[in-house]
Amino acid sequence: MSEITRAAIVTGGSRGIGRAVCLALAAQGMNVVVNYAGSAAAAEETAALCREKGVEAITVQADVSCEAGAEALFAAATAAFGRVDVLVNNAGITRDGLILRMSEEDFDAVLSTNLKGAFLCAKKAARLMMKQRYGRIVCISSVVGVRGNAGQANYAASKAGVIGLVKSLAKELASRGVTANAVAPGFIDTDMTRALPEAVREGILSQIPQARFGEAADVAHAVAFLSGENAGYITGQVLCVDGGMAM
Ligand code: NDP
Repeated sequence: MSEITRAAIVTGGSRGIGRAVCLALAAQGMNVVVNYAGSAAAAEETAALCREKGVEAITVQADVSCEAGAEALFAAATAAFGRVDVLVNNAGITRDGLILRMSEEDFDAVLSTNLKGAFLCAKKAARLMMKQRYGRIVCISSVVGVRGNAGQANYAASKAGVIGLVKSLAKELASRGVTANAVAPGFIDTDMTRALPEAVREGILSQIPQARFGEAADVAHAVAFLSGENAGYITGQVLCVDGGMAM
């Protein structure tokens, strides 16, 4: 392992899967930038939990769906740690609805955060990581991006788009020591899925071979592996963390 203290940016690190990822990276000894959109107190709590693991952590409010937000996030990260070794594109939203009722605004909002946000941050990361000749980019896709889902045309398109983004990044950055991979979670117990009606949750449960919902930590362990130095020969992959749902 190198002597360098690695620095990681986790978008949407205030809650849910993003928080678990922050903690898993901190447990590996990385300094962490906890990005969030509006939940300042939750982001501070994540950062405090990271510091308990003996690393440095800062919080940065920034909307990753716009260029200015991505710019501010990377400026704060490099000011704090002088480098960015790991980018985890985790920030995501849903605006579900059947296609006939889905508004243009709902489509654009989901694509802007989930896909364009990942692109904007990956672009900033690529510049730094190519110079460093080292980097790990991990994007959180979804089983829905692999299989599609009724009522989630916008979300499924964004998450399938993330897979195309990752594979292209992997090819462009491979020769510079930078890897890019996607993690595709199945149904994970977070605020996002707790908002679903009980009947929908039960319907999803019946499709999971392991017959349980995942924990945020299940996803975080996979992300931490792909973000680590030992995963250097793995790039352009989609790792499903879904209790067998997508196979
Ligand atoms: P949560 O709703 O619990 O958390 C979403 C996070 O994203 C929050 O930290 C939120 O910040 C942040 N965020 C939202 N919009 C923006 C933005 N424009 N700029 C910066 N941050 C933003 O989601 P989950 O933890 O459930 O999901 C995390 C990721 O995993 C998402 O990409 C989601 O699509 C994906 N996923 C989740 C699954 C699940 O079952 N939960 C399954 C498959 C994929 P704030 O707290 O400030 O609002």
